[in-house]
Amino acid sequence: MNLDLTKHPHRRFNPLLQEWVLVSPYRTDRPWQGRVEETPPANIPQYHPSCYMCPGNKRSTGAVNPKFKNVFVFDNDFPALLPGTPNATSNVQNLLVAQSETGICRVLCFSPRHDLTLSQMAPVEIRLVVDEWIAQVQELGSRKEINYVQIFENRGTLMGASNPHPHGQIWASSSIPHLVATEQESQRAYKDSNSSCLLCDYLSLEQQQKERIILENEHFVTLVPFWAVWPYETMILPKRHFFAIPEMTNDERNALSEILQRTTLHYDNLFQASFAYSMGFHQQPSDGADHEAWHFHGHFFPPLLRSATVRKFMVGYEMLASPQRDITPEIAAERLRAATDNSWRAK
Ligand SMILES: [Zn+2]
Ligand SMILES: [Zn+2]
Ligand SMILES: [Zn+2]
Repeated sequence: MNLDLTKHPHRRFNPLLQEWVLVSPYRTDRPWQGRVEETPPANIPQYHPSCYMCPGNKRSTGAVNPKFKNVFVFDNDFPALLPGTPNATSNVQNLLVAQSETGICRVLCFSPRHDLTLSQMAPVEIRLVVDEWIAQVQELGSRKEINYVQIFENRGTLMGASNPHPHGQIWASSSIPHLVATEQESQRAYKDSNSSCLLCDYLSLEQQQKERIILENEHFVTLVPFWAVWPYETMILPKRHFFAIPEMTNDERNALSEILQRTTLHYDNLFQASFAYSMGFHQQPSDGADHEAWHFHGHFFPPLLRSATVRKFMVGYEMLASPQRDITPEIAAERLRAATDNSWRAK
């Protein structure tokens, strides 16, 4: 019998993380309520006097932000990583194993405006963010003690972003974080056995099947991966094979800015509210080694399930056995693709 991915419970394999996700499509017979619960847009001012990211404001350390016009970067005032941490390890019987970690954490304000989101910024404004990501990866990645630069954004209180001011983070570390190392090993192993790139091959399959693609432009595709864990998880894949964000051409930088704006706009429209997510990019480490198998890409991991206020929880079976999802990635892609109505924003 053929496996019917729209009906039969099944497992899907994530070739990047070498993990499985349980998909239970029959449970989607439950009614779809995505458009029922509308959440009115929050009334956020363009400038907030007590925001530590707004231009001209004082931060908790006493530092005063410049009156920046575009983007602004500063070292995180409460960093998870500290530069100059001495290199040391501790190991008790290979069971209690620890290693010192050094690095730098920065905050990047996407705009002087307190009330914007990527979805509401013009692609030319997002381009300035992309350029700053590139500058940061170049600057931090060139340091001897830095081997990986992770760019990410937590958007919305559901994802723990305590401040609505549009901003992302850049954490640069001496070790290669384990999810990145796993993806790296998967891509390297795939290249060794197939003499081709995992994500180039995957993208060309998706372009043939089309059903999981949400949108694309000349240089990038946004799709719901076949193995997505979060209900509306997406990936942004460049059509050209390159290793890291600084390698993008001028056209690709514009195209990335454009697809980020459109992707986040589809997200907002889906539940007619400013969408919560964690997003970020994966790229080759800056450790000076050869990483030909790396295919640069972005991930969006949104927690929302059925409305702007109903989130998916990773509990029970997910904590103890395997991630599980009800709506199939194909249905999620269909709904995201159709989420073009932006009229709710004018209400
Ligand atoms: Zn602000
Ligand atoms: Zn590739
Ligand atoms: Zn990745």
